[in-house]
Amino acid sequence: MTGLTSIRSIAWSLAAGMLAALLLMGALGADRTWWALAGVAALAVVVSIASLGMRPARSADRAADSSAVPGLPPMARDVFERLPDPLMLIDATGRVMFANRAMHGVIGIDAERKHVSALLRTPSVLEAVRRTMATGETTSVEFTLPVPVQRNYQAHVARAGREPALTILLLHDLTAMKRAEQMRADFVANASHELRTPLAALSGFIDTLRGHARDDMAAREQFLGIMTVEAERMRRLIDDLLSLTRIEQNEHVPPSGETSLEALLREAVAALAPLAAADDITLEISAPKGLPPAVGERDELIQVFQNLIHNAIKYGRQGGHVWVSLELGAAGTGRGAEQMLIAGVRDDGEGIPQAAVPRLTERFYRVDVKRSREKGGTGLGLAIVKHIVNRHQGRLLIESRPGEGSTFRVFLPAVRDAAVTEMS
Ligand code: ADP
Repeated sequence: MTGLTSIRSIAWSLAAGMLAALLLMGALGADRTWWALAGVAALAVVVSIASLGMRPARSADRAADSSAVPGLPPMARDVFERLPDPLMLIDATGRVMFANRAMHGVIGIDAERKHVSALLRTPSVLEAVRRTMATGETTSVEFTLPVPVQRNYQAHVARAGREPALTILLLHDLTAMKRAEQMRADFVANASHELRTPLAALSGFIDTLRGHARDDMAAREQFLGIMTVEAERMRRLIDDLLSLTRIEQNEHVPPSGETSLEALLREAVAALAPLAAADDITLEISAPKGLPPAVGERDELIQVFQNLIHNAIKYGRQGGHVWVSLELGAAGTGRGAEQMLIAGVRDDGEGIPQAAVPRLTERFYRVDVKRSREKGGTGLGLAIVKHIVNRHQGRLLIESRPGEGSTFRVFLPAVRDAAVTEMS
């Protein structure tokens, strides 16, 4: 090791240690991102100091490590790679010198040497990068990436080093925080509205029972019956709201389990058979054995199919049919094709007007509020279904013709390379 190289190594070790300490402190403190940014900036300053007047890395050294970034020692690269926040280093021409693993999750792999504007298309972020490159000012900007699942970030852009300048772009994921804010706002607005109706009914009947119905045994029995139904409605609403909150908070975490949809559909059908029988509805299932399992969490997927089958019964035709089916299909073509399990729930009930179909998965949206209430609906069932399916990287397709019935199809990725039993 030459003297210069050892000075550089010491400088890098110091900087990496500093960054690690800052990150640790920041993880305990209020604004982790600023600590991280300060650490990164310190590290970058040391890069420029350490590389001043240095000879370029020997080509033999570079050839030994194909992942080497010019001017970025392996130790620093390793520290950056381990950062949980997405980070990229941009050179003076706007090209990406380095993007860590977390950043690959945002902009894809193969980012290095591409221009930043080809990777991040959000105008406000590019403007922040441009401003920092031009003026040296540190800038922060919030932005949203809409696909595949909407995510909110705060981008921090800082310049480090002298000539040639190095720009650091660090992203801080605000998705969970934004979601929590949104949930709180929705909860207050919608839940209070939905809870007010049964609550008003309960208070009204309490007054009546204390007042003129005090000695009327027959009225008392009738009112207590209605009060039980209203209290039950409130309980269902609270259960659904809690369920939705839980699912939404996890929506951006892909599921890891494996679940047999065939077994799960049979279980849902068995649980809802008494309800179907009460409306004289024939509930049929055709789900072949031997299909690969779905990638997904059982407890969430059972909720999907219970909600869909329950809806088919609720909005189905008295004396009609509900068909539950399962088949294997494919999404995409060629080598990228993915096996999908397609579970369908079809009814021959009242159907849904075309204009209402895209709105069905909105919270509290109902085609006919009165009818939904009569059937004990909360208006949250399909919102829950949509969020679970999104989390499972699946799709929900709804087809309906008013007067003829509706079909709800859920597409879920099958477990790759699962042992599949051949069916005769
Ligand atoms: P709800 O608790 O009101 O049933 P959902 O979110 O499950 O709430 O469904 C939203 C609305 O979609 C329902 O109120 C109903 O108008 C309509 N809907 C859902 N499933 C069906 C179906 N199978 N047939 C007709 N309409 C349906």
